[in-house]
Amino acid sequence: MKFKHKTVENVRLTDRFNTRQQIIGTIYLTSTHLIFTDPEGKRETWILHSLISSVDKLPTTQQGCPLRVRTKHFLSAEFLIPKERDCADLHATLNQLKPDSYEKLYCFLYQAPNYLEKIWDPFLPATEYMRMGAPNQHWKIEDGNSNFDMCDTYPPLIYVPTLTSKAMLFGSSKFRSRGRLPVLTYLHPNGASITRCSQPLSGFSARCQEDEQLLQCILRTNPHSNTMYIIDTRPRVSIPVKSSSLRINAVANRAAGKGYENEGYYSNIQFKFCPIENIHIMRTSLQKLLEVSDMKNPTMNQYLNALDSSSWLQHIKSVLDAAIFIARVIDIEKKNVLVHCSDGWDRTAQCCSLSSLLLCPYYRSIHGFRMLIEKEWLSFGHKFSDRCGHTTTSDNKEQSPVFLQFIEAVWQLSQIYPTAFEFNERFLISLHDHSHSCQYGNFIGNCEKDRLDLCVKERTYSFWNFILQNVNDFKNPLFRPQSSYASEVLLPVINAQTLKFWLSMYHRFDSALLPKENISNTLTRLVDHTTSLSDHARLLEKRIRELNSTFDNNQTTTTSSSSTTTSNEGVDDSDIEKRNHHNNICLPEFDSGLSDVDISQGRITNSISSKLNTILQPPPSLSDVESGFSGDYSPHNKALSSSFILPHQSSIDLNDIPTLERIALELNSIALDWRSYNAPVHCACSLPFDSAQRKYNCWRCGENYCTRCIERSIHLPGLYSNSLAPVCKTCARSIKSSPSFADFSALVKSKSTDFIRSQTAMKLSRSMIDQFINDR
Ligand SMILES: [Zn+2]
Ligand SMILES: [Zn+2]
Repeated sequence: MKFKHKTVENVRLTDRFNTRQQIIGTIYLTSTHLIFTDPEGKRETWILHSLISSVDKLPTTQQGCPLRVRTKHFLSAEFLIPKERDCADLHATLNQLKPDSYEKLYCFLYQAPNYLEKIWDPFLPATEYMRMGAPNQHWKIEDGNSNFDMCDTYPPLIYVPTLTSKAMLFGSSKFRSRGRLPVLTYLHPNGASITRCSQPLSGFSARCQEDEQLLQCILRTNPHSNTMYIIDTRPRVSIPVKSSSLRINAVANRAAGKGYENEGYYSNIQFKFCPIENIHIMRTSLQKLLEVSDMKNPTMNQYLNALDSSSWLQHIKSVLDAAIFIARVIDIEKKNVLVHCSDGWDRTAQCCSLSSLLLCPYYRSIHGFRMLIEKEWLSFGHKFSDRCGHTTTSDNKEQSPVFLQFIEAVWQLSQIYPTAFEFNERFLISLHDHSHSCQYGNFIGNCEKDRLDLCVKERTYSFWNFILQNVNDFKNPLFRPQSSYASEVLLPVINAQTLKFWLSMYHRFDSALLPKENISNTLTRLVDHTTSLSDHARLLEKRIRELNSTFDNNQTTTTSSSSTTTSNEGVDDSDIEKRNHHNNICLPEFDSGLSDVDISQGRITNSISSKLNTILQPPPSLSDVESGFSGDYSPHNKALSSSFILPHQSSIDLNDIPTLERIALELNSIALDWRSYNAPVHCACSLPFDSAQRKYNCWRCGENYCTRCIERSIHLPGLYSNSLAPVCKTCARSIKSSPSFADFSALVKSKSTDFIRSQTAMKLSRSMIDQFINDR
């Protein structure tokens, strides 16, 4: 079906919490987005088609026909359309937009911005397992699944005990639901391991010798313990089966030939149930949670009761409890754990990945978290397309917020340990959104095999590349890599009051409900601002030295007989600084534009000194009130990772005598004051700022902008480090049009060639190591 673009005018967009507040505008329906703009250009709302979860036509009123659009990233927009026919037409079109095959997904059409290349940094399981210490004397790589013969939803290479044989593995895979046999997923430094699988097809009495042998082999990989745990993450019900033992809701499962391990057949095994509800109960729970979000003017009691009856936070707690139990067994009891649910791709993925995150600090870094997602969720076959409902081919009953629960559990942990995670809330929200958006190829399909068949690596962009290119937007400014929380096993005690309602996930578009600014964003802004000013100050100091030196030399030439002439030779930086301070005459009419710069060198020096002095005064934006804390803030506090701090060696000494135009350009390219994030609710381009969106201050004019209004490809002439810095498009144009900018960029380019060469050499050696690991 060819898509027909549509335009509907005089549409009212209603604020869901303030129905009196309405914006009148136009809806444009393009092949990828629904866009709403108001005629004065004060507001724009963009909704990606693949994020739309439901479109409902509500009962017609006197004003018109309301159409409610809900998205998978928790936007709820109500449009009041004047003509019923237009509304019905839009309703029908939007409801037909969901693709009926993988081939029609957005990632195969998406054209990324220029800075993002179609490069996939391959996930090499071998590298990750090697980091954990496998293979070793107890664990080996098994290639029996290289053609997906053993299990079509597992990765081609699996890690199993060295004592196993292929026959044993094939035997076990036949006995496990969907062929998902027990394989290694996490190895702790103390030798204890987490293995994962699906339920056994044991029915009421069936047994499998190979499966029993495989579990004994797993038990023997751990020299510290002669027993191991099997953790079933399904809820048990109070149905007595075989004397006093309580068993899972698996009576039906058993009748279907499925079930759980029979203790009588597996020796030295301890069984433990860590109950987590199934996908259907979780789906209903999220629906109830969203109804809570929709409540208009509830009392505190009504709100809390509704939140409680959604059970959402109880489910998050049960996932966390299971993960903490596993982490405790591994770290304290030093015993192996085998985890499974029914098919081993939902609750098992949640528990294995969360317990690994608690056990290993590496997974709390941005790079490590990526590895965790790649390993536990992507390569072990979480059914992203079915659970997120990417296409019409999957059953609606298959949809479930399993991945969202994992993301939220990580967020809850990051609230308990705010300094232990390298990534911020925006990173988690972005990961959640893009598992639904289909913009990148990573989360397409239900397993590794699906993505291989679709050739996603050749045909789509990678989400991880997007993260890497914008990594500073996703860093937690409170992260302390050296703190004990960041380097230890985390074993929190989770009470009901520990868990919070995640306002910036579920209400991110309801600006009235959110705090004006969160501490993380304010800190990031302060660190960036301080970085820009100190970098600029270093350049100004350098220029003052150079100009004073030239000025003094000139004086020496003209008044060669004078014995009082000073020279810069042998004078160190602090002496020069003292002298500059002494000589400084602040020019009240100072302006950094070239037109106002006097050709006399002394006057330029004074202009620079004046700006330097202003920078060295504490800027008003560094107030304790705004930053939310007082006392210990220091711009040199290394633990406050700045978004744009570059390695020291990246600074390039251009070694040329600057022209007056260049100095003017330098003076004119750094803003002293930055606008606070609190003020604007939308960008100058009309895009509303939601809480998940990164706001930028343009380093040249200091104003707030959204991602699409910022350019990051300009080496700012006013920075000593010559680093790339974010500037708005207007400023970028202005800098680029400066006559001396071309010379400056050419210099930066030529001077950075050596740096790029060394980087390429490092990358090459890295890929050779990866190749070596692959070949093994
Ligand atoms: Zn600007
Ligand atoms: Zn913008």
